[in-house]
Amino acid sequence: MPDHHILQNSQFCPVCSEEIAFQARYPRYVCMDCASIATDINGRKLLFYNVDASGGFLAFYADTNEIYDSHQCFINGLECRADEAKFGGIVIQVN
Ligand SMILES: [Zn+2]
Repeated sequence: MPDHHILQNSQFCPVCSEEIAFQARYPRYVCMDCASIATDINGRKLLFYNVDASGGFLAFYADTNEIYDSHQCFINGLECRADEAKFGGIVIQVN
């Protein structure tokens, strides 16, 4: 049953519908292209990082490097939440 294989190994970005790797833990995570255009509510571009190799979450404004003290972000008008991923890196999910 070929469809079963596809369903287990991919899902779709909720912002742009790009096919992305299946992540059972993150059913509404966005693709890398969409993650790269995340902004605050006023449209200022944000960058997200882990604190260190063990994880954690940091967000900065891309233009001034000020700390952005929130997990909330927006991509194409959709409200999202950025956070540290379970196994490293940052994951952004549409709310
Ligand atoms: Zn996308």
